[in-house]
Amino acid sequence: MSTPLTPAAYLRALHHEGTRTREHPGWRSHNRNHKGPWGPVHGVMLHHTAGSDSLSACRNGLPDLPGPLCLGLITKDGTVHLLGHGRTNHAGPGSAAALAAVRAEQAPPARPGPDAVDGNARFYGFEIENLGNGRDPYPGAQLDAVERLSAALCRAHGWSAASVIGHKEWTRRKIDPSFSMASMRTRIARRLGTRPPGGPDRPGPAYAVFPGAAFFVPGRRSPLITAVGRRLVAEGCGRYAVGPGPEWTAADVLSYAAWQRELGYSGADADGIPGRASWDRLRVPQA
Ligand SMILES: [Zn+2]
Repeated sequence: MSTPLTPAAYLRALHHEGTRTREHPGWRSHNRNHKGPWGPVHGVMLHHTAGSDSLSACRNGLPDLPGPLCLGLITKDGTVHLLGHGRTNHAGPGSAAALAAVRAEQAPPARPGPDAVDGNARFYGFEIENLGNGRDPYPGAQLDAVERLSAALCRAHGWSAASVIGHKEWTRRKIDPSFSMASMRTRIARRLGTRPPGGPDRPGPAYAVFPGAAFFVPGRRSPLITAVGRRLVAEGCGRYAVGPGPEWTAADVLSYAAWQRELGYSGADADGIPGRASWDRLRVPQA
């Protein structure tokens, strides 16, 4: 299940993670979906802009490359400028092995293979304002925004930090971004409460263990219930007027029932009470 988040769910995920955003006119429908597929998505790809006037370029494109060039631009002050949503011209073709590693939640190969796969369909793309000359600094606020934004998408989709790669890890044609992706993944993993990829132990996302159907009784309060609700929202199954929150309510039952129907259950099997099979497929991060 890696259906792209709706603009609303995406924005909520970013704000949950403490990302500071600025919405630019029309961002929710500014994309290249008319030119090719968008989704299923498997990860986040980071870039540096290597130029001036990056806001205009990212939104409108370049003479030889129509915009948008990314979903968002992260400026040096740590603001994520929301410019588009959907397929954007950021990745181009890239390595099948790199995509396979992302899908397996493993660190990418040391060197990407030949260009073979359409990355614009598979990744959320973000540009980071930097000249990319090795001397232009990435201020702390900017790196913090990159970390939060990436973690927000990983959390919403149930991905680990291994799902965040740099353009330079996607294709041999590119060198961006000009910071260590391994360090950034370590930061993201720490934020997610998981082990960084590429460490001595096999990396893997830390998903919450199924607590048993009896856990889900009206009035039960737990951070785990909030985590469940966020995942349901991310999967397009949220039926909340307010929330999701820590208390198990009728809205949680309705939302979970929508998830069960999404998986093909019906009747008494889609009663809104979590069972192990539907739980495992929801991949709820540890609360
Ligand atoms: Zn790039």
